Amino acid sequence: MKCNMKNFFLTLALGCLISLSAQAEVEHYFSTIKQDPNALYAFLKEMPKGGELHYHLAGGAYPEVMLNIAATQPYCLHDANYSVSSDKNCSAAILATNDALYERYLQAWSLKNFIATNEESAEDHFFATFYKFMPVVAEHEAELLADVLKRADSQHEQYMEILVTPDNVQSASFANLLKDKKTNAEKLEVLKKNQAFNDNIQRTIINGRNIIEQAHTLLGCDKNPQAEGCNVTVRFQYYILRQLAPDAVFAMAVNAFSVAQASPDFVGINLVQQEDVSAALKPYKRQMQMLDFLHQQYPAVHLSLHAGELSPTAVSPADLRFHIHDAVTVAHAERIGHGVDIAYEDNAEALVKMMAQKKIAVEVNLTSNDWLVNVKGAAHPLHYYLEHQVPVVLSTDDEGILRTDLTREYVRAVMEQHLDYQQLKTITRNAITYSFLPPDEKERLQQQLDKQLKLFEAAYADR
Ligand SMILES: [Zn+2]
Repeated sequence: MKCNMKNFFLTLALGCLISLSAQAEVEHYFSTIKQDPNALYAFLKEMPKGGELHYHLAGGAYPEVMLNIAATQPYCLHDANYSVSSDKNCSAAILATNDALYERYLQAWSLKNFIATNEESAEDHFFATFYKFMPVVAEHEAELLADVLKRADSQHEQYMEILVTPDNVQSASFANLLKDKKTNAEKLEVLKKNQAFNDNIQRTIINGRNIIEQAHTLLGCDKNPQAEGCNVTVRFQYYILRQLAPDAVFAMAVNAFSVAQASPDFVGINLVQQEDVSAALKPYKRQMQMLDFLHQQYPAVHLSLHAGELSPTAVSPADLRFHIHDAVTVAHAERIGHGVDIAYEDNAEALVKMMAQKKIAVEVNLTSNDWLVNVKGAAHPLHYYLEHQVPVVLSTDDEGILRTDLTREYVRAVMEQHLDYQQLKTITRNAITYSFLPPDEKERLQQQLDKQLKLFEAAYADR
């Protein structure tokens, strides 16, 4: 219940007074620790956080977990580039006994101890990690999800919207059916009539359900629903790889829309991969038009797009002018991932006003933006969005590779972006408000979050 003047005089007047004073106490405490990253971490870890709306399972899993899995399974190690491949005749058990080798793989699969060179930037190193560990992700999604959910629970998160492709990108292979077809409508028709493609849609849905069920089994949720990780509600977004050939992108997109329309586990779809290379820059406008076409066919499917993960040092001025605009106005994105280059877009003021008015939330990833696009501190547009009342959420993007977690993103938002406690509370609530959950579930989680925030503040006020 909100403590406004109308309900203040109602029967819960006493409750309002108590919660107002608890909030004031917490705000005072927050003001005393806002320059202390350690005190802030301890405080913010306990703070209920709505959750994460921008989270890649492959990059969110900590490499330590993947290496421990690899060491007990039949994988071949390729020390030349630190990749692995699945092969029943191989063993990676040496990872469990050779600490130096383990460390080299760990550094190759993450940004641990990374120092940029002329040959390899942090962005290069980051995007190369996926090719090294993907065979482990493809075969062990449930184990990785279980670990991710435990970590989220330990930080008092309610909800996670996680990016996956449970068909292991098989949908892209249907591009060969589309070679001779000219229009989007013809391509869609071919895919809709193809039994193998429809089977792939069903396989994606079933695999997605299995990943969640198996993760819950690993966490022991059946026997103990309060076990760590079990309280975090999880849903998926099916992602499309933007650097693939046009027909492969189209086939993945149709799979994405179909899955999200049919399965309650998939609440939305997304477009991912490095945005500042020509393989992503050249087809950008065409991809937005393709998403517009598919949106007309599947209007109920929610769409979030990685857009504007660009900086003026990485791309030409021409490429900075329209990505976020087109994502919102052409492709019908309801949320934007990153949105770093907003100020460089044409008519940026009008664009942010429109985003505020349409309530297009921006998924802000501070650590990721620092490492991958070299934007941080005052140069980061977080305040630009906040000042224009564009809703924002904080997320980790790829916490395992980037060596972060959601609490550290909150700490960074305070230390580096100078956000206050009320702004953090709003961000926490935004993670539920701007999720793609259906309204009834959103309402349930929002009430749960508000209750937990009150308990959290009351507990701090009692200290
Ligand atoms: Zn991302």
